Amino acid sequence: MKLIDYAERLKQLPPYLFKEIDRKKAEVMARGVDIIDLGVGDPDLSTPQHIIAEMKRAVDDPANHRYPSYSGMNDFKGAVAGWYQERFDVGLDPDTEVVTLIGSKEGIAHLPLAFINPGDLALVPSPAYPVYNIATLFAGGESYFMPLLSENNFLPDLNSIPDEVASRARVIFINYPNNPTAAVADLKFFEQVVEFVARHNILVCHDAAYTEMAFDGYRPPSFLEAEGAKEVGMEFHSLSKTYNMTGWRIGFAVGNAKGIEGLGAVKSNIDSGVFQAVQRAGIEAIQGDQSCVREMIQVYERRRDLMVRGLRDSGFEVDPPKATFYLWVKVPEGYTSTQITTRLLEDSGLVVTPGNGFGDPGEGYFRIALTQNRERLGEALDRLRKLSF
Ligand SMILES: *Cc1c(COP(=O)(O)O)cnc(C)c1O
Repeated sequence: MKLIDYAERLKQLPPYLFKEIDRKKAEVMARGVDIIDLGVGDPDLSTPQHIIAEMKRAVDDPANHRYPSYSGMNDFKGAVAGWYQERFDVGLDPDTEVVTLIGSKEGIAHLPLAFINPGDLALVPSPAYPVYNIATLFAGGESYFMPLLSENNFLPDLNSIPDEVASRARVIFINYPNNPTAAVADLKFFEQVVEFVARHNILVCHDAAYTEMAFDGYRPPSFLEAEGAKEVGMEFHSLSKTYNMTGWRIGFAVGNAKGIEGLGAVKSNIDSGVFQAVQRAGIEAIQGDQSCVREMIQVYERRRDLMVRGLRDSGFEVDPPKATFYLWVKVPEGYTSTQITTRLLEDSGLVVTPGNGFGDPGEGYFRIALTQNRERLGEALDRLRKLSF
């Protein structure tokens, strides 16, 4: 089309690295191969019944049919504050320190519009969830990539960030438990982040989507538990993974009041809040019976154990993750991430995600999502055993 050209912000988007995989997947599918998709981080389990029941009830209530409040219903924000108190021993003012989001992705994507000017930097981990970088670009900013390396337990090395970079940075994104590496961070790391940003006036944005999906009794901390965290940062959370609600689009941001207010100001000019019936269902999720979360953890724990054992038997190197439903698997000798991903797809019908698709430092790894049932995972392992590495 000649008449209308794309805006520069679309033209500057990095090439979509999964395009080639998508194309090959379609090709293999067309050959009639039974594909096992271990690529997407979307739970195969369904939303717990008591949450669905609350949604049905709330849909029937005309009080929920009108425009919701921009920043979220008081009841929902109160439920979030209550949960933070109970789960993390962190106190929050529901009026000023909580905002409801249309999924945490929406909040993360809009945040840079509130805090990044053209030419400013955001400190962005790599490999990472792509939204941190893209949202920075959309705001006219630039990303300074912090490599997540196995020798640093996939934590960014804050000491290696040059002073002139730190002084131009407005925002730092972090994400633990981490997608895609499945790494976890302790409170000490969060305290180092607080200390680092306090020297440079940088807003911390912690993506905490996976804090409730942790194994063997491990309880990941909130960034806001770190001393002084609320003065410098905020945390993004989601009901998507904890309650198998990816399709419902509900999440929230909490923490620093200026951060929450800035994000809220952007949002109030773009969206009009989350359907109240969905917020009612969200309240039920947060305040209702949590045995569904324990059951979900058990399901993923058993899948993790099955896959880690099977992968190791087939010669792959992988650490059992303490959290998230991902395995971050070392690429075998003689392959790149793209080559192994292609081989698994073409020879075995297995879809996995190449690590470099999340950023260059992800080269040498591929990601498996444990979002298939045990039978399908067993079938995937059978197929892997037939390849030789
Ligand atoms: C799944 C995921 C999200 C959550 O997305 P929602 O928009 O809340 O569904 C956020 N961050 C990471 C790293 C994720 O993997």
